[in-house]
Amino acid sequence: MPRPFELDPLFRNLATLPGVGPKGAKLMEKLVGGGKILNLLWHKPVDVIDRRFSPPVAQAPDGKICTLSVRVIQHVPAARRGLPYRVVCADASGSMTLVFFNAKKDWLDKMLPLNSDVIISGKIEHYNGGIQMVHPDALVKASARAEIPPFEPVYPLTAGITNKMVRKALAGALPLIPSLDEWLDPAHKKKNVWPNWDEALRQVHFKNAAEDSLDPQAPARTRLAYDEFLANQLALALVRRHVQKLNGRAWKNDGHLRQKILSTLPFTLTSAQVRTLAEIDDDMHAPLRMVRLLQGDVGSGKTIMAALAMMNVIECGAQAAIMAPTEILARQHAQSFMPWLNASGVHHVVLTGRDKGKQREAILNQIKSGSAQVIIGTHALFQDDITFHDLGLAVIDEQHKFGVHQRLLLSHKNKGTDVLVMTATPIPRTLTLTAYGDMEVSRLDEKPPGRKPVETLLIPQDKVEEMSLRIGTQIDKGAQIYWVCPLVEESELIDLQAAETRYDILKAKFGDRVGLIHGRLKPDEKDAVMEKFIKGDISILVATTVIEVGVNVPNATIMVIEQAERFGLAQLHQLRGRVGRGGQKSFCFLVYADRLSQAAKERLKTMRDTEDGFLIAEKDLELRGGGEILGTRQSGLPAFKLADMAVHAPLLLTARDDVKLILARDPELTSDRGKALKSLLYLMEQDQAIAYLRAG
Ligand code: ADP
Ligand code: MG
Repeated sequence: MPRPFELDPLFRNLATLPGVGPKGAKLMEKLVGGGKILNLLWHKPVDVIDRRFSPPVAQAPDGKICTLSVRVIQHVPAARRGLPYRVVCADASGSMTLVFFNAKKDWLDKMLPLNSDVIISGKIEHYNGGIQMVHPDALVKASARAEIPPFEPVYPLTAGITNKMVRKALAGALPLIPSLDEWLDPAHKKKNVWPNWDEALRQVHFKNAAEDSLDPQAPARTRLAYDEFLANQLALALVRRHVQKLNGRAWKNDGHLRQKILSTLPFTLTSAQVRTLAEIDDDMHAPLRMVRLLQGDVGSGKTIMAALAMMNVIECGAQAAIMAPTEILARQHAQSFMPWLNASGVHHVVLTGRDKGKQREAILNQIKSGSAQVIIGTHALFQDDITFHDLGLAVIDEQHKFGVHQRLLLSHKNKGTDVLVMTATPIPRTLTLTAYGDMEVSRLDEKPPGRKPVETLLIPQDKVEEMSLRIGTQIDKGAQIYWVCPLVEESELIDLQAAETRYDILKAKFGDRVGLIHGRLKPDEKDAVMEKFIKGDISILVATTVIEVGVNVPNATIMVIEQAERFGLAQLHQLRGRVGRGGQKSFCFLVYADRLSQAAKERLKTMRDTEDGFLIAEKDLELRGGGEILGTRQSGLPAFKLADMAVHAPLLLTARDDVKLILARDPELTSDRGKALKSLLYLMEQDQAIAYLRAG
């Protein structure tokens, strides 16, 4: 379905709005996150000025915004340059002075003719025993009172864009909002006392607004939040249905290779692992395509899950691949897999971006011929020149980077291939729905036994010296330490300076048992340092935040994080997850600067008090709200424009259920409501999902 033409005005360029122009449009585009009128309409006010208060002049209180009806009594031009021009006004209760700096006399004469009645609005000041208003925000003839709106929304701004510009542009945009056929279920809408979509949007911008329009729980705001969730869930459901319909394969295997692996494991699977494996097997044995997310904290034992799932397809003569986000992780996966693959007699290859020329060609040939049964690599595995003989299962290890899977799921190359996405970042359930609503979810919510808890200590910056003494004695006992230096700026170079300074200090104390790793090193240099650390040649690894998320060095038992207050909870949790992987007791030292914000205090306390990743994730959501969680922008988690996760999350669950019902009744969205829902997908820029409907 092409975009309904009623929507066209909303998709026009911002430059077509009054007072914007081409240059303003560029700035505004940055501010509102898109160049279309629609994007401006999603730009919500953060505050509002109430101009309804209209007391008699004599009773106008100091510091309050008042809208006054007055008569112009006298003009008092500035006595000399630099002094203000004054206009005395009065009503029956008393008089006041309007104060103008650098105002043009012509303009003042025109706007404030003697003895005329005017309405002025602005902040009242009591000054030298008199009442005055400096530069009124609004100034109109008495007959034009309607030009001063009772509520004046205040918008987030950027350099070059004033609130006045935003309001003027919106004044041009609001009349363009079409009234559309309703996509909500009538009963649900009625129960919530929600306005129509167009009315809701106008209310958010304080046109026909109620006093509480700024309240995220106001009907207009909750309706728009719901619309946004509905579009998100509908789009994900359509993608999921499409992906699952693609020629899935029912793997018929007897588990003999898996058995071989299991018999060599030095441990038994946790009950969470057993449950997860059963969920995976159910998918893989059924003819539908598997599209499953495996969520599990660092160290929860995801890797073995991947290997065991792979055997389902290997036993049937197909191939399995696992993709890691970085080279180091790919190689580490290869190492973990080695004993398992050897035990089951499965041949594997490793392919990363670093394999070049002949070597790469040889690997590609094995992948193409099928002699490589398991392929371990980075996302380089999905480059165009790579042909699989018969890829049955793709495991994607996303670590903390979200959203990579969507591209892969939809690429034509792996049609019908089962997909298992693994993520190490615990995400609150609600957010999982928004980012991975197109997948089934398994959770490894139980750590393998025998892990000692990591003791987390909060260390003030001025105690760092003491701490490093303590660390010295640990090193002598063979301990290994990660020392993470702060994220000072968005600049790798400046981060690096902090790390280098710390490196020098530690090196002076501990000599060449100290290593440094950072993002500016070449990949093989990074590997070399990492290798030394893994082997134990280095005792302290000073790092910028580049240290690889999934790297496993069981002997590392101490994590130091400097300026920990600068990190988000999710990141702190990831970093701490580097230790506590072996049998020994581990420590995490969170070093903080003396002045902490309330939120930073909360974060550090949370870290001290719990190691439960899911709990930490929920706390993160609470502290930061959905928009910011886990550094949403980089992560690829959807950022909502109208919905506020911290407030509206329950609506998301309703939207999910709503979508289930909608698609059960009207799978191709051909009913009137279905058509209206397609418009909603266009409005929310989720229309790529429309391609998956038969009616197109
Ligand atoms: P993740 O990838 O989820 O962060 P890993 O798969 O790297 O975790 O597992 C961490 C460590 O725990 C590995 O050394 C792995 O062999 C081990 N492990 C996995 N499952 C179990 C288990 N059920 N019991 C004991 N150890 C386990
Ligand atoms: Mg892992």
